[in-house]
Amino acid sequence: VPESATKLPSKILELMDGFRASKALFVASKLKMFDHLKNKGPVKAVDIANEVGTSVCGTERLLDACAALGLLEKTPQGYSNTDSTNTYLTSDGEYSLHGYIIHSNDHLWPLFTYLESAVKEGSRQNHRAFGKKAEDLFKDYYHSQEVKQRFMAAMHSIAHLTARDVATAFDLSRFKSACDLGGCTGALAHELVQIYPNLKVTVFDLPEVIANTSYFQPPAQHTARVTFVSGDFFKDNLPEADLYILSRVLHDWSDEKIHVLLSKISAVCKPGCEILLAEMVLDDEKKRSTALLQSLNMLVQTEGKERSGSEYRALLQQHGFTNVKIRVTGNLLDVILCIKT
Ligand code: SAM
Repeated sequence: VPESATKLPSKILELMDGFRASKALFVASKLKMFDHLKNKGPVKAVDIANEVGTSVCGTERLLDACAALGLLEKTPQGYSNTDSTNTYLTSDGEYSLHGYIIHSNDHLWPLFTYLESAVKEGSRQNHRAFGKKAEDLFKDYYHSQEVKQRFMAAMHSIAHLTARDVATAFDLSRFKSACDLGGCTGALAHELVQIYPNLKVTVFDLPEVIANTSYFQPPAQHTARVTFVSGDFFKDNLPEADLYILSRVLHDWSDEKIHVLLSKISAVCKPGCEILLAEMVLDDEKKRSTALLQSLNMLVQTEGKERSGSEYRALLQQHGFTNVKIRVTGNLLDVILCIKT
């Protein structure tokens, strides 16, 4: 018998369990169990169950699973949050991932149920998961206030986590004006103006999004240098700027749509203007699982995909953008900078 046959296939077993662990995290977040444990000493399962309004036996099993997964500490006195849980999993923390977790549970989970159809058909599955098919995914997202708010909260939480690394991957201090196309809640814009005191940033996004940004604004300070403009980047005039930013925008679209967008940017860009892309860049050997799983996430819901550095370089060069530089940040987004010549 080969040795490999007698060893447990731990990697496979862990992957078989992966969705159970994700769902345990999602449900504990959705029921706000981590909020109930915030800033408290150890709490018993029965007390959390009473506060949340859940069964004692179910709550105890969920909390035990969360403790075993490293999300909670468990002592004979009860359960408490770890430091990381306080920072990232309570719903009101500055760096809370709660918005993205709720989006994962309510939106991505149903879509991934149809991954098999997405692979067979090579296209998005919004109609199967949610019973309708709008012309593009953002029309799907923004048809209801609730879904839109949830999507914006998700984008905001992830953008906030990556903003500093995106803003500092290259020295951008020479720019006076930037336009963040598809800049959503302005999370990256606010980070940029904090880091670069001479920079003004225009956040350009669809009217439905711009109408909802006030909820996500930081308390005053640098907000005067961030402006919001609504429009459709495929159809409307783009604001003038020295630097155009596309953060997690190109991955939503096909090459054809990207050509439309890049040619519009190229037309308003003066020579010397630059484009900054923030995306999960695929490595040429295709070994980075986070980016590859993100590409499946794009398959189930968009017309787009994650691309490699050479694919982005080729798209940009066709529109006169050269000197393409790529920085791998170690965070969830990598950064590409190029100049119009
Ligand atoms: N840049 C943000 C980030 O990195 O968190 C948001 C990324 S989100 C995946 C894509 C953004 O593009 C959304 O805010 C969406 O509303 C915006 N968007 C989609 N289609 C658009 C269009 N036609 N015109 C302007 N913005 C658009």
